[in-house]
Amino acid sequence: MVRGFAGAEPPAAWPRLPGTPQPERAEAPVSSLSGVGPALDKKLGKLGLRTVRDLLEHRPHRYEAAVPQRRIADLLAEEEAAIAGEVRSVTVRRPRRNLAIVNARVADESGDVVAVWFNQAWLEEKLKPGTHVRLRGQLKRGGFQVRSYDLNGVAATADFAPVYPATEDVTPQRLRALVERVLPAARDLPDPLPAELRSSERLPLRSDALHALHRPRSLEEGEAGRRRLAFDELLVLQVGLARARVGREAAVAPALGAPAGLVAHYRELLPFELTPDQEAAIAEIDRDLARDAPMQRLLQGDVGSGKTVVALYALLRAVETGRAGALMAPTETLAEQHFLTVEPWCTELGVRAALLTGSVKSELEGAQVVVGTHALIQEGVDLGELGVAVVDEQHRFGVEQRRALTEGRAPHVLHMTATPIPRTLALTLYGDLSVTEIAKPPASRKPIVTSWVTAERSSAAYTRLRKHLDDGRQAYVVCPLIEESETSQSRAAEVEAERLRRAELRDYRVGLLHGRLRPAERRELMAQFKARELDVLVATTVIEVGVDVPNATIMIVQEADRFGLAQLHQLRGRVGRGAEQSYCLLISRPREELTENALARLQALVDSTDGFELAERDLELRGEGQLLGTRQAGVSDLRFVHWRADRPLLERARAAAEGLVDYDGPLADEVERVFGERELAA
Ligand code: ADP
Ligand code: MG
Repeated sequence: MVRGFAGAEPPAAWPRLPGTPQPERAEAPVSSLSGVGPALDKKLGKLGLRTVRDLLEHRPHRYEAAVPQRRIADLLAEEEAAIAGEVRSVTVRRPRRNLAIVNARVADESGDVVAVWFNQAWLEEKLKPGTHVRLRGQLKRGGFQVRSYDLNGVAATADFAPVYPATEDVTPQRLRALVERVLPAARDLPDPLPAELRSSERLPLRSDALHALHRPRSLEEGEAGRRRLAFDELLVLQVGLARARVGREAAVAPALGAPAGLVAHYRELLPFELTPDQEAAIAEIDRDLARDAPMQRLLQGDVGSGKTVVALYALLRAVETGRAGALMAPTETLAEQHFLTVEPWCTELGVRAALLTGSVKSELEGAQVVVGTHALIQEGVDLGELGVAVVDEQHRFGVEQRRALTEGRAPHVLHMTATPIPRTLALTLYGDLSVTEIAKPPASRKPIVTSWVTAERSSAAYTRLRKHLDDGRQAYVVCPLIEESETSQSRAAEVEAERLRRAELRDYRVGLLHGRLRPAERRELMAQFKARELDVLVATTVIEVGVDVPNATIMIVQEADRFGLAQLHQLRGRVGRGAEQSYCLLISRPREELTENALARLQALVDSTDGFELAERDLELRGEGQLLGTRQAGVSDLRFVHWRADRPLLERARAAAEGLVDYDGPLADEVERVFGERELAA
């Protein structure tokens, strides 16, 4: 019997056969491609396209619809159509600076036509006489104006040409040409899916999926390719999370036992009853803390739902066992706000609280509750024996920062977020955490009434705002969003505050809060606002989180159409924090100027104050990939996933991941690559 090759020793070095994958080809920088000079390299870099692999994994956001295939003699004027033929001759003209016109005479058996490209002079050398081309475009006066093309003659037709997300710098046509060129390198990429899993899931090979994505023969084929790539992303994420979980389950934490006197006292001091959701959250936390496995819990709840009250409970649980508690926030403003909330309670309870940020360092010696920014996790900061750490707005920290806080210091961790996401999604993205939700805010709070007017009615909005001020309430005015930089944002806010001081808010005390203020100035300003020495706070998005002034009952958001849904919801949460009815007035540009998406966002805010509902809506409006405008760890990496449509796929990936935690090979490399990169980005 002849034995198979399975057991045979491989030769010391396999000869590299033609057609053998060459991984280094896929990882080559785009600048190594001929025709990609420093200028284009830089533009591609802005799109995140640095390597051949990035190009291969650049997802078309849509495909052009099918058009009729015509013989050249049958072309109709102005009709969008596809033709196929052979190049006979080619010329380039430059009638003006900044304008290059490529003309190629293309012939089929019925006749010939001059095909026209604008500003793609580099095509001249590609369009050698005799080249077979497939073109898609329109017959116009100057010739057949090409919209998309295939110079290899491989695609079945010019239909379903992929359209890539492009910028002003790089046209979709240019990207299409680049992707075409690198497509052969698709087979150089390792396939992370174990073969058995691929066949049981009936998914195509990764290289076939990439071909289908960029050069589909039908829309279904393109979709099948996308789904395979989405499965990979989900699987890699799930395996990574499963590994993190397994690693942590092996760790040991001090069991903190049952709740004792300090938290009982805290409960007595609270001037209100805890809501059922708060009680449920506390019960879950108590259960976690009683075990000797580290707590890893995500507490999700809308702004003002009462998370901080629960977080302080967890910190005090550490204190009553003789350990310290730490609360880490992503910005100084937020840390300071937390401190302002937490410190008075601590003082009443006889617990020493300290604040530690980049600019404030209070005495840590003997501190039992420490609030701070990531300054907390800097080298040489001694937090004593940490029992519980609370990480607020945890998605704003990198994996590495979160790890630094917890590793070897605080075994029990409570992550908080005021950007709630739907539960299934939370379980996917934070598959390594348990999830608790505070869905219902305290009943004493009246839902914020939101209305939306266009700019021409803004004076009516300010009239309403002044009415609140005259009744002794306070207000926020949020300035238009300027993406460029913190500096230009702050400058614009200064100008706007000046304008308001002279016009609509002439008779009131107006403060200005922006990101360029020094921390001491900002603290001073916040203290003044809290003490009612200011009537109005004109602010940039820096007030998005953490500002808590119950007497502020009205907010105007200027050019609200520029903001994302989640961001507007966050901003709105600055009002409605007391028992008074609060209002949010969204001012937008005229309706005709708004995109459909912007109209839908603004309407969603008028219709709902429920963060979970809005999160679902946001997902729907954004479609895929991008989630809630936050940098949720890893989510921005999920380029191929359609959040709603792919939920079943997501379930399957999660199930498959359970059995693959220890799996080696390309899958493990891919997990390493994705999770490793995320740490670097942190
Ligand atoms: P979050 O951190 O979720 O934004 P907070 O814990 O800061 O919410 O609570 C927001 C406001 O609501 C605070 O002023 C707090 O004192 C108050 N609050 C919290 N829980 C309750 C409750 N159960 N009943 C009434 N008011 C509450
Ligand atoms: Mg809070």
